[in-house]
Amino acid sequence: MNVKERLTDVLAQRGTTLDTCSNGALCQALLVALRAYQQELKPAQGQKKLYYFSAEFLVGRLLRANLINLGLEEEVEALLKAHGRSLAQVEDCEPEPSLGNGGLGRLAACFLDSIASLGLPGDGVGLNYHYGLFRQDLKSGRQVELPDPWIEDDSWLVDTGISFPVTFRDCTLQAKLMDLEIPGYRNGVCNRLHLFDVEAPAPAPRDGISFDKTDIAGHLTSFLYPDDSDEAGRLLRVYQQYFMVSAGAQLILRELEERGCSLQSLDQHVVIHINDTHPSMVIPELIRLLMERGVDLERAIYLVERTCAYTNHTILAEALEKWPVHYLEQVAPQLLPVIRALDERAKRHCADPAVAIWDSNNLIHMAHMDIHYSSHVNGVAALHTEILKNTELNSFYRLYPEKFNNKTNGITLRRWLMGCNRPLSDLITEAIGPAWKTDAQQLQNLAPLTEDAAFLARLTEVKADRKAALAQWLREKQGLSLAEDAVYDIQIKRLHQYKRQQMNALYAIYKYLEIKAGHLPQRPLVMIWGAKAAPAYTLAKDTIHLLLCLQKLVASDPQVSPWLSIVMVENYNVSAAEMLVPACDISEQISLASKEASGTGNMKLMANGAVTLGTLDGANVEIAELVGRDNIYLFGRSSQEVIDLYQRNAYRSSDYWQRGDIGYLVDFLLSPELLALGDPQCLARLYKDFIAKDYFMALLDLRDYIDTKERCLNDYEDRTAWSKKMLVNIAQSGYFSSDRTIAEYNRDIWHL
Ligand SMILES: *Cc1c(COP(=O)(O)O)cnc(C)c1O
Repeated sequence: MNVKERLTDVLAQRGTTLDTCSNGALCQALLVALRAYQQELKPAQGQKKLYYFSAEFLVGRLLRANLINLGLEEEVEALLKAHGRSLAQVEDCEPEPSLGNGGLGRLAACFLDSIASLGLPGDGVGLNYHYGLFRQDLKSGRQVELPDPWIEDDSWLVDTGISFPVTFRDCTLQAKLMDLEIPGYRNGVCNRLHLFDVEAPAPAPRDGISFDKTDIAGHLTSFLYPDDSDEAGRLLRVYQQYFMVSAGAQLILRELEERGCSLQSLDQHVVIHINDTHPSMVIPELIRLLMERGVDLERAIYLVERTCAYTNHTILAEALEKWPVHYLEQVAPQLLPVIRALDERAKRHCADPAVAIWDSNNLIHMAHMDIHYSSHVNGVAALHTEILKNTELNSFYRLYPEKFNNKTNGITLRRWLMGCNRPLSDLITEAIGPAWKTDAQQLQNLAPLTEDAAFLARLTEVKADRKAALAQWLREKQGLSLAEDAVYDIQIKRLHQYKRQQMNALYAIYKYLEIKAGHLPQRPLVMIWGAKAAPAYTLAKDTIHLLLCLQKLVASDPQVSPWLSIVMVENYNVSAAEMLVPACDISEQISLASKEASGTGNMKLMANGAVTLGTLDGANVEIAELVGRDNIYLFGRSSQEVIDLYQRNAYRSSDYWQRGDIGYLVDFLLSPELLALGDPQCLARLYKDFIAKDYFMALLDLRDYIDTKERCLNDYEDRTAWSKKMLVNIAQSGYFSSDRTIAEYNRDIWHL
């Protein structure tokens, strides 16, 4: 059956037709029709199979992505059009799966797309969260957290009917296997994302996102990263992690047996990729399961070490998980003898306490276990991997230099260009043909067009259209009215002080005061932020409060509002990113150098013709090398200078605050204007942090940031020169295709 027949069938069964059903009903019917279509496709085959373990898969809406990969987008669009319907409107009814939080989860989703599109045998393994991280409402100047349910009667989830028992100290729960299908790009392949779930999930909490964290059977898969500010929350995270890896390890052994392979050849037939430390317990769990099946300890360790590979995503100490031994005793005591053995063995190899798995405070270091017992360890951008080797993980690097390697992150252009920006994608295809869709390096063939005035004009036109579409969307969603001929300056990413949204807020204050003083810009500036703050992260929430106060201040000032807009986008997620990314002129990538492992937002924005304003951090370094200094705006201290400042404990933010040229911007936080709009406590907390701590050194780079941004805005006025910069960025973005990243993982680590 073709799609049209399938779709008409589903609608008929539901007593409706293409002409009469609602957009919501059409969305559900399309989903059911496509799911049936996908189930007939086969997973990629091979001698060896990859299992990509991750606590997060931020897959985004799947309707358009799956249509593109199945090669059905145009056919379905035409079919809907013939009945007076629009795919864009139908698509808007699809709830976004809330299975992730930020860059790490989005990376995992891009990887699954590339693995399937390259025809490699590889599935994801994770958890089926029902209410996501949280949905963010912005009310009365604050972030309000609500459950973000996404599973409806018709969803993309396939109930496999398979389940595995997971034994905790106090109970045994069945892990139900639910699958999302991951079709490859026009290659007939369909891999899977395996999501484990409890049998009897509890309903969504009514009071925001607080719930009984001791109700493990009901709430294990309710939320991603339950609040860990108390012990019950931290224990729940350990329950989640063990549930995911135990069920995942059992699935692996079952599939190995189904393929007729012996346990002794595990490493010949299986690769386990550990995405950050959340799945680390798969190492001792798999060893334990092998021993239960008669493999001796030494042999089990040998097999598992050769099977596992680990990706490190951050050098922020807070994110390198350490679990107290008594948590594991409480949750899964059966792991402790194995972890004890792994630790003793590691200590025999190297007695340095800096590389201990089980430390003298009875903490288990997950990353240390990963490094000792994986065959490969990688960072996610060239600079990040160098920092791991030379600083953060230097003791390990000296022990195992051969394990360390770099895999610079990537994004799937099928979602982040073809899916979210059809007009640009079509323009590119018209110019260089469609081969870039499977070979992104061919985007370089756009380079000669920097001399083609007509092409540059069309590129500028596409950008203007995307800005108008974003303005329209924000008008409908948030009641805003934005100038369409403005410069769109966008910072979208999780809220964290190291990413320095607070520094960008100080620039907004600078611009506001400049306009008040009569120094008008050459054209309006629209400054947009999208970000969720972790519920217990006070300063991050204070920063959201500041931005919302500034939004109000500027909007209500008739002298300023024609020239400046401040916008905090509500509930930043993948669907919001798909509206924001194509419309961006200036991509804010302003983390404190050395702190952002890679970033992938920077890559999406670049591919859509935004010019980066950033520090030499993460993958910005590689972007700068590819586009050249004329096509990126760099500022701020280098990672080495920053690392030295930390090592010498030599940064004093008050020294910078006392300087007349920036101190007044910080002081504005406690100005009568802002205090009249905001919560004095929040503003005072931020103010104090700036002058007494400023751990991520916003004031250090602020002057350079302001000057560089002014230069950038000035350059924007040479519209032709700017359009060339846009084009160079697009043409050089092919390197950041996740197809390239995955090909490298496969070449150097997986050997599928
Ligand atoms: C790409 C993406 C991110 C990661 O952004 P960074 O700027 O790399 O931190 C976070 N959230 C969403 C929704 C994304 O699409």
